[in-house]
Amino acid sequence: MLAALDRSGWFVRGSLLKVFNRCGNPSCRCKADPPKLHGPYWQWSRKVAGKTVSGRLTDAQAEVVRGWIANAKLVAHRLAELDEVTRQVTERILAAIDE
Ligand SMILES: [Zn+2]
Repeated sequence: MLAALDRSGWFVRGSLLKVFNRCGNPSCRCKADPPKLHGPYWQWSRKVAGKTVSGRLTDAQAEVVRGWIANAKLVAHRLAELDEVTRQVTERILAAIDE
């Protein structure tokens, strides 16, 4: 199970969103009625030191980050499994020491 974690590659937390924006130009198409918004752009949001940080990604970057986010979910799942196995084993070890 630890080997599986080791093989999982880079991983990042956060979410990837496709977003549309309005710019600051008052005569732009994004201010028209109906508005034609700019984008879509890829926006990656994640927590850094407790704060949410967002950044724009290119299509190619978003593709890579999508894989890393999927890895992070896999890692979290494996860690939960490992946590459960560890809990069972450590309880047995502690019970054996107590005898
Ligand atoms: Zn605009």
